[in-house]
Amino acid sequence: MNTSDLNAFHLHRIGTVHSPFKEKFGIPRQSGLIEGNIGQIELLPPWDRQEALQGLDGFSHIWVVFIFHEALKPVEAWRPTVRPPRLGAKRQGVFATRSPYRPNAIGLSVLGYHGWRKENGKLLLEVSGLDLLDQTPVIDIKPYLPYADSLPQASGGFAAEAPQSDPLKVVFSELAQAQLQPAQQRYPQLRRLIETCLTHNPRPAYFGSIDKREHFGIKLYEFDVQWQLEAERIVVLSLFAESLPE
Ligand code: SAM
Repeated sequence: MNTSDLNAFHLHRIGTVHSPFKEKFGIPRQSGLIEGNIGQIELLPPWDRQEALQGLDGFSHIWVVFIFHEALKPVEAWRPTVRPPRLGAKRQGVFATRSPYRPNAIGLSVLGYHGWRKENGKLLLEVSGLDLLDQTPVIDIKPYLPYADSLPQASGGFAAEAPQSDPLKVVFSELAQAQLQPAQQRYPQLRRLIETCLTHNPRPAYFGSIDKREHFGIKLYEFDVQWQLEAERIVVLSLFAESLPE
């Protein structure tokens, strides 16, 4: 092995995330802050071996190491500072943030773990608390160890508190209500997911308090969820199903 081998590494994709989030807009900025964001990690061959999960059943949470595959940029494009959404225009050093735009587009999320199952020959881990796009490549999974990983005395710098925004009331139009009913047969958690995604007003901070756009949309599962901000509440206007490629 020559020295250059220790400066650039080849990683294996061991799995793929199946998540309700089909685009970045509207995804929670950290895992665990939203209810209903459940999904699966599909282990891929040759890593899809049940033995590799032996002993994991007793753990309620796992660390998932993944690639921000929609934030990949050429090395020349990297910047030492980024703009964390909570700070508006203020920049911080990339290593002081969890931004997807980093020298290696590697992310780390703690997810709830709810066991595994086989479906059509695929080995699927059931997870909750997703802050990841659908199809995100997974490169490792490790158990979350409460005795070592939970550090109540730790200080959180400029991100000590969860982002504060008064929750907005989320209401559904008649059309959205009608569309929600059949959709919930397939995704019983859909209403809760829409409500908790929208209640903290996922518009980027730079939109400020004045609307510059009337309608917004977030893509959850196969639904294009259209909504608008009206006074102090969010109105879900419609959720039309889009056909997704198989
Ligand atoms: N908990 C992880 C961490 O600390 O590394 C992720 C934090 S990062 C701030 C979460 C944001 O990354 C989401 O709000 C979403 O916009 C974006 N994101 C999620 N999956 C992504 C992917 N596969 N490619 C690019 N961006 C992604």
